[in-house]
Amino acid sequence: MPFLLDEIEKEFVIQEKNKIEEKIKVISEVLKDAILQVDNKGRINFCNHSAESLFGYPNKKLIGKKIFSLIFREQSSNFKIKFSNFIKTGQSHIIEDLNDLYIKRNNDIKIPVEVSINSIKLDKKVRAIAIIRDISKRKEHERTLNENLKFQKLIASISSRFLGNVNIYNTIISTFQIIGNEVEVSRVFLFLYDDFKKALNNPYEWCAKGIESLLEKFRGFSIDNTPWVSHKLMSGERVIVNSIQDLSTEAINYKNLLISHEIKSVIIFPLYVAGSIEGFIGFDDEKNQRVWNQDEETLLQITSQIIGFVLERKNHLDELKKSEEKYRNILGSIKEGYFETDVMGNFTFFNDALCDLTGYSREELRNLNYSELCDEETNRYLVNEIIKLIENKENFKILEYVQINKDKSEVNLESSVYLMYNSENEVNGIKGMVRDVTERKKSEALRKQFNQKLEEEVRIRTIELEEALRKQKLYLDQILKASQFKTEFLATMSHELRTPLNAIIGFADLLLEGLYGSLNVDQVDFIRDIKNSAEHQFEMISNILDISKIESGNLSLNREQIDLHSIVEQVISILRPLLNSKSLSIQIKGLKNHRTILADRIKLKQIFYNLISNAVKFTEKGKITFEFIEDKEFWNFNVIDTGIGIKESDYDLIFKDFKRVESDYVRSKQGAGLGLSLTKRIVELHGGTISFESSFGKGSCFSFSIPKNVDLYNNLHNLNQFLLSL
Ligand code: ADP
Repeated sequence: MPFLLDEIEKEFVIQEKNKIEEKIKVISEVLKDAILQVDNKGRINFCNHSAESLFGYPNKKLIGKKIFSLIFREQSSNFKIKFSNFIKTGQSHIIEDLNDLYIKRNNDIKIPVEVSINSIKLDKKVRAIAIIRDISKRKEHERTLNENLKFQKLIASISSRFLGNVNIYNTIISTFQIIGNEVEVSRVFLFLYDDFKKALNNPYEWCAKGIESLLEKFRGFSIDNTPWVSHKLMSGERVIVNSIQDLSTEAINYKNLLISHEIKSVIIFPLYVAGSIEGFIGFDDEKNQRVWNQDEETLLQITSQIIGFVLERKNHLDELKKSEEKYRNILGSIKEGYFETDVMGNFTFFNDALCDLTGYSREELRNLNYSELCDEETNRYLVNEIIKLIENKENFKILEYVQINKDKSEVNLESSVYLMYNSENEVNGIKGMVRDVTERKKSEALRKQFNQKLEEEVRIRTIELEEALRKQKLYLDQILKASQFKTEFLATMSHELRTPLNAIIGFADLLLEGLYGSLNVDQVDFIRDIKNSAEHQFEMISNILDISKIESGNLSLNREQIDLHSIVEQVISILRPLLNSKSLSIQIKGLKNHRTILADRIKLKQIFYNLISNAVKFTEKGKITFEFIEDKEFWNFNVIDTGIGIKESDYDLIFKDFKRVESDYVRSKQGAGLGLSLTKRIVELHGGTISFESSFGKGSCFSFSIPKNVDLYNNLHNLNQFLLSL
């Protein structure tokens, strides 16, 4: 019975075992993972379909193989040790913890796997059930993920490298080093175009170990040397050359250039700075021809964008720095104080002139508030004015107030105050320019005082002047009346005076001619004296009348063409008796018969008469010469005598009214001292001038000139007078 029971039990166990094995088989066939049943020596005694396809062996070949032989060599001995430990302890983690486990496929291909293992006891023997999962897809996925992550990190690290105040050149070069190593290229390069976009400038380059730098070779390189690539980049296109064989004939120059530098592959992107193409950035490879992949393109593109931004920021900063420097220089050089405060009046910026103006040092002023420079009242005034400025939305205001300096002295200030705004257009401060107007204020006060005084003075003087003018006007009226009276008097009286004189002369002639009986010698002498005196009187009255007419502007010329010779002859014939009595000869020079000039006949004759009669009068022996000289503009006349001459001391009186030389000789000659003064006036009336030269005891020469074009002459004369009066 026990035997039977034993057998039954055995049978039962076998049946159960078969059932389990059947179940394992069924389960293992449905699972995609490879399932191996391995004995405690590691020999495979069961495998499913998935195991066949994972390992690349048919079932028959797998059964009997030791599991260690299927593990890739690096881990196979490790696996063996861990497996025997597992068999001893049954602890599955010993094997499951093994990382980087790879199985070796039939064709030697390495496949990453994950192993989970369990031990079961069958037939009193320990068996291991190993579930092996192909994780190559997961690994691949992980690898891509890792690469992406690394790429993201790389890009993030590139942009963060440029944050803050960095040395741009060094940062670009170190960035090139990182990306150059990452993508394993020969060079990473960047060139900027020059100002005319004609040549390469400002190069940046990183070279891998053992690669020659091309930096100097391309510095200043004219872009016209390689038109194909230059045109592409300038038009914003990227240039990707996987193999230089791909380059068309159009790109022959560029191809030759790459060949000459042994470059096998190159990729270049245009570099945009502030929206415009300012250069390019690229990778090249001297070692391999390569197909530039998407990641490399992206990396280059992103680096190009980052550097573009960095250069744009640098340009902005440079410009800002320049304009800030200019601004500071200007503010530093001006004499006016300049300040900026926040809305509370704390100084945020000011120039040196403000320190000079206030007497505070830079340090002191920096810690001051504007209100501390003014008294309370001024502060209220300033605050009110600034509030008004904000409310009225005005841009600026000129304020005048008194500032208290460090030494407590007060200065009058004129300040142009402006509001400052932040980017949200809110007022965030006040700026202003202040100048010391104390001196101006003082002088204004003085000027005011002076003006008041001056006004008073002017008022008094005006009254005085008005009085003086009134008197002068009265006086002038009297003079005018007197002058009018004189003219009228002379006009009427000369007539009245000349009429009886004419009668006296006429009757004297009649008596002398003996028409009314013969006269004895004494009577003839008396009558002659009467006649001479009357003639002298007549001549004098005529001269006075002429002078007064000229003076009052009542004498006008009657110009006509006159025969010079004839009037000179007429004058000489009047004077002939006197000439003969003195045995004086007279000569006419330079005057042809019938020579005519434009002048007033009677007045010109009067001039000739006065000059020649004077010459005859003041000459006792020798001769008289009348000379006519014509030039381009003038008719010139000289009357030369060999008479008594004139002393230099008497020169001044010669043309004066009623003046004669004080000498017995002159006194013995008839005359009133009016002849030459009238002659001078008549010459001037013709627009001419008169003068004389004389040598005392030897003779005189009286000369006068009359302009041919008297109107032009008068105009010039008036202009000259006007210029002289300036
Ligand atoms: P009058 O001949 O009537 O004295 P004038 O006015 O003609 O007056 O001359 C003024 C003075 O000039 C004369 O009195 C004389 O002293 C001087 N004088 C004029 N002509 C001559 C001359 N040719 N030689 C010397 N003295 C002269």
